[in-house]
Amino acid sequence: MISVLMPTYNRADLAFTQGQGAWLITEDGRRFLDFGAGIATSSIGHNHPHLAKTIAEQAKLVLHTSNLYRIPQAERLAERLVEISFADSVFFCNSGAEANEGLIKGIRRAQFKNGHPERTDIICFENAFHGRTLATLTATGNPKYLEGFEPRLPGIKHIPVGDLEALHNAVDEHTAGFLIEPIQGESGINVIPTDFLRELRKICDDKNLYLGFDEIQCGMGRTGKMFAYQWTDIEPDIMSLAKGIAGGVPMGAFLAKESIAKHLTAGTHGSTFGGNPLACAAGNAVLDILLAPGFLDHIAKTGNYLKNALQKLIEQYPSIYEEVKGKGLMLGIKGKLAPVEVQNAALHQNLLTVAAGNNVVRIVPPLIVSEEECQEGANRLAKAAQQLQNSMEQSP
Ligand SMILES: *Cc1c(COP(=O)(O)O)cnc(C)c1O
Repeated sequence: MISVLMPTYNRADLAFTQGQGAWLITEDGRRFLDFGAGIATSSIGHNHPHLAKTIAEQAKLVLHTSNLYRIPQAERLAERLVEISFADSVFFCNSGAEANEGLIKGIRRAQFKNGHPERTDIICFENAFHGRTLATLTATGNPKYLEGFEPRLPGIKHIPVGDLEALHNAVDEHTAGFLIEPIQGESGINVIPTDFLRELRKICDDKNLYLGFDEIQCGMGRTGKMFAYQWTDIEPDIMSLAKGIAGGVPMGAFLAKESIAKHLTAGTHGSTFGGNPLACAAGNAVLDILLAPGFLDHIAKTGNYLKNALQKLIEQYPSIYEEVKGKGLMLGIKGKLAPVEVQNAALHQNLLTVAAGNNVVRIVPPLIVSEEECQEGANRLAKAAQQLQNSMEQSP
């Protein structure tokens, strides 16, 4: 008989009933080091005192009022996000896919209002991940995820990252803009070369197109800068956020320059839950932590420490691990085996990781992780590799 939860996920037979910092604990008291952070989402760790207190206090005041009224927590969070980014204005929603839907709508609407209703097409990139709704699934473009869900949303095409010829051929009179993850997460932690982002920016500037960055996974401090694009000299016109933005409370957002945001006038877009007092209180609490003096530097420094520790594993276990990828605490180990095998071997060592595409296992701990915990994680990955090596030697 079918399970009461739809069978859309391959769940491990584990249930965590408590968390503490970078650790998750099962009901029977087994402790797991969490280097997955609920897919890069539990950004400031589990049971963070400031976040837990803020949520509890907000729950006693008011959870939800709707966007029929002003929401001071949302105003404050938007003000802060604008202050620290390229953007002039913010729309809050509830997930990454919803944020990207809004981003696509924003680009189309702005082109329409600019007198270019024919400019509807969004150019996306191979190995992208933008979500699972019908539009964002089309933007993701992975045929495996699209099977049985066609027809695709019209007006989205894909080209390979780094292919300048394909890029220039793809832009035509219907192009509205681009959507790209500055660091691709789901497909295996691929850092997009800055030169390529610069080329996209240049085309947008020359032709009045819009550059959209999906920073749902790589944003909100994950790489050691508040936003991944801040490692480069390139700014987008519009950007989506979600995952870590509220530390595990469901929240998404898209941020835009005035040139786009001014066209999203009353009635053009909306979301019942979007930006409610609870989610925004959580978002503000996360920002309090991320903006505390030295915290982003801590992420960059801890990320380097972890990257070096993982690098040593490559030298130690070349038959299992091949390459370390990524920035800050958005890391991946490319291996020679299917990533779920590595993920399962790590799980056996009470270490949580997240399999990604292209033989990469994601290492995305909470941003509050310590160097000692990073070393502990690397030790567990060494044991996992040893176990995988032993079982490879035993099987003929
Ligand atoms: C996770 C993710 C999404 C989708 O977010 P959901 O909250 O699952 O809808 C979109 N883009 C990127 C880069 C992501 O990592």
